Amino acid sequence: MGIQEQYRSEAAGLLSSGAVKLVIGFGEGSTVERRRPVFVRTPAETERLVLDGGCVANLSTYLLTEGLLSDGKSVAVFLKPDGIRSINILAAEAQLNPEQVVIFGFDIEEGQVRALEGRKASDFAPVIGVAKAAGLSAELQKEAELLDQISAAERFEYWKDQFSKCIKCYACRQVCPMCYCRRCIVDVNQPQWVNTSSHTLGNFEWNIVRAFHLAGRCVACGGCDRSCPVNIPLRLINHRMAKEVLDAFDYYAGECAEQKPVLATFRQDDPETFIL
Ligand code: SF4
Ligand code: SF4
Repeated sequence: MGIQEQYRSEAAGLLSSGAVKLVIGFGEGSTVERRRPVFVRTPAETERLVLDGGCVANLSTYLLTEGLLSDGKSVAVFLKPDGIRSINILAAEAQLNPEQVVIFGFDIEEGQVRALEGRKASDFAPVIGVAKAAGLSAELQKEAELLDQISAAERFEYWKDQFSKCIKCYACRQVCPMCYCRRCIVDVNQPQWVNTSSHTLGNFEWNIVRAFHLAGRCVACGGCDRSCPVNIPLRLINHRMAKEVLDAFDYYAGECAEQKPVLATFRQDDPETFIL
């Protein structure tokens, strides 16, 4: 039995026994490269579940739908390692109880899907350990290094150009499991901290504020980058922030549910190179 059939059958069993009330997985999409989220509530509906190389989205974001977990019942969700790291962060930030989340873990390598063993977030600690040891994406590192090679003034111009394209659609925020505030600071208009219209200064404020809010929390799922309709390379900002916290604090976001947020804790041997 292939992994898709195995997970369909297990999902049907969990639903029929009442162990979970909902399965969040992938279904047919508009293209085979991108599968669409599906929400399955009955054993018969598990036939809609698809698992292949197009299942790239981080579905953990749907677990924060208002009220979904407030009745104490469990939900199953299909997640890659980035999504499992998100569960750990959300648990550490008291946004969900990881005991209510049953994980159908999988990974994609060269377009092929393989199952990951375990059903609770804590079961996947070895997988996340391997991901940390492998380091941040070499591909992204290469892309980011091109920006490191130019002067600060040129880099500023580069980001000014990129951010000038932003139309403040907030798709990057909506897709991100770490952007869970019910009311985002950029939607507050009294006082209006960040201008809502799309112009260079306001766009800078929005994108930089968001990058700082994601420092030490982004799991590099790529959701924001893929959802940006004007193709701003948000991955490069996220990568840079992840690199800074890894280099300075040996901190890899989402290692476990007990991990303290990097910007809310300190160690006596933390580097203080930024303090004059
Ligand atoms: S900032 Fe982007 S890449 Fe990072 S967790 Fe959020 S959606 Fe994923
Ligand atoms: S998805 Fe792109 S265009 Fe939309 S708010 Fe985010 S950065 Fe701006």
